[in-house]
Amino acid sequence: MHTCRDCGRTFSSELKYELHRDTCSEDTLLCRECGNRFAERRATRDGWHYRCPNDDCDAEGLGEAVVRLKDARVATR
Ligand SMILES: [Zn+2]
Ligand SMILES: [Zn+2]
Repeated sequence: MHTCRDCGRTFSSELKYELHRDTCSEDTLLCRECGNRFAERRATRDGWHYRCPNDDCDAEGLGEAVVRLKDARVATR
């Protein structure tokens, strides 16, 4: 079992994991409020309004409280 460090998804084979690594951060979002990482599709229903899928967190707004993981990485370096 391979677990992605960035999004927490698990993969049954190394090949699937390797393929995933190439695209992972492309659609992985980070909540700056609670530090949660989640797939883009979990954070939005209409592709317009984004909010943290964590029930205990009410952060919302892509580019505000919710940022793309790849952008967050650049910003923190
Ligand atoms: Zn991943
Ligand atoms: Zn959050």
